[in-house]
Amino acid sequence: MADFLEPILPGSYLGILGGGQLGRMFTQAAQVMGYKVCVLDPGSDSPAGSIAEKFIQAEYTDSAALKEMATLCSSVSTEFENVPAQALDELESLGVFVAPRSSCVSLAQNRIAEKNFLATWKSETNIGPAPNFVIEHEADITQTPADLFPGILKTARMGYDGKGQATVYSKDDLSLAWNELGCVPCVLEKRMELDFEVSALVVRGYDDAVVAYPVSQNLHRDGILHTSTVPAPSLKPAQEKKIIDAAKALIRKIHYVGVLCVEFFVLKNGDIVANEIAPRPHNSGHYTMDACVSSQFEQQVRAMARLPLGDTRLLTPVSMLNLLGDLWFEGSEDKAREPAWNKVLAHPDAKLHLYGKSEPRIGRKMGHINCLGEALNEARQNCTAVAAELGIEP
Ligand code: ADP
Ligand code: MG
Repeated sequence: MADFLEPILPGSYLGILGGGQLGRMFTQAAQVMGYKVCVLDPGSDSPAGSIAEKFIQAEYTDSAALKEMATLCSSVSTEFENVPAQALDELESLGVFVAPRSSCVSLAQNRIAEKNFLATWKSETNIGPAPNFVIEHEADITQTPADLFPGILKTARMGYDGKGQATVYSKDDLSLAWNELGCVPCVLEKRMELDFEVSALVVRGYDDAVVAYPVSQNLHRDGILHTSTVPAPSLKPAQEKKIIDAAKALIRKIHYVGVLCVEFFVLKNGDIVANEIAPRPHNSGHYTMDACVSSQFEQQVRAMARLPLGDTRLLTPVSMLNLLGDLWFEGSEDKAREPAWNKVLAHPDAKLHLYGKSEPRIGRKMGHINCLGEALNEARQNCTAVAAELGIEP
């Protein structure tokens, strides 16, 4: 067995690959705890890079930049899901503690590997993926089982926020859609009758401890997360337990260190299906920043610094509202405006988070608001009221 490594204590540098909003909120959590942060991102001005003690502007595969990062940081994590596995391997070979490891990140980068992973452990987790079939060659289309229609064709790589997907009703449709997606490796998934969607957020520490947050119920709009509500209003306690047990089993199977999000579908017939995993703090876990003892970003710091994990206890019901760049425009992108922050900030139990992005764009994640309430209904009403202040349709 490898030697047990000591914790990395405040005052040290922690590294993060990717400078987006997840990197920024990670940086803020680390700084609150007295760490310094080094961000590596290819862009010149990034939400995390602009507040980190050290910002390295370079491609993820730039060996000199990775060396510079490794000199400064004894531990590195990633906020960007599609970071090349090679970058993580290179850092590890330079003696850096990389959490989660590249094998875990690679798994989440490829839907084919991901669905296989979920199917492989179904006998232990009691929750499997939706029925699916891999399409890598033209010939696979004729072999497609008929009971997968209507189905959703998803590219194996680089899909996010519903991008890289098409609904298909027949093999002819499938052939057209696969060509439109560029004939790249894809997974065809049976379209399920969803009742609602939830996600589980679990964390595994260096000491093998695994903790879980309460499951959030997620509403998407145009493929992008719109709200996350906790406790999940429609979820039965037995379903929540089953989901948390499955997510805990999955994180253990891959010896994952850090925060992992697992998305699930709850079907109209009450069955539960595992959809996908995200190897990092997740948008649906932003509620933890104001509603839990430890935020998901603090946990990422703790896990990568090899510290004991924090408490995941929910302190108050919450409904998180995502703020997209659309709010900065009146209809089209040529009529700019500033959202009515004064009205939002007039709500004492609405916690505003803005990511410091220089340029709003339609569909771009600009911030979120955690709407708290003493009871679940109050949190939800608060969320509806805040959304109305901003002109967001209910
Ligand atoms: P992304 O990586 O873009 O988040 P997902 O696989 O999570 O891709 O799909 C995006 C959304 O599409 C899901 O949140 C869900 O609403 C819907 N969806 C995906 N797969 C299915 C399915 N098999 N049946 C029904 N709805 C689905
Ligand atoms: Mg998803």
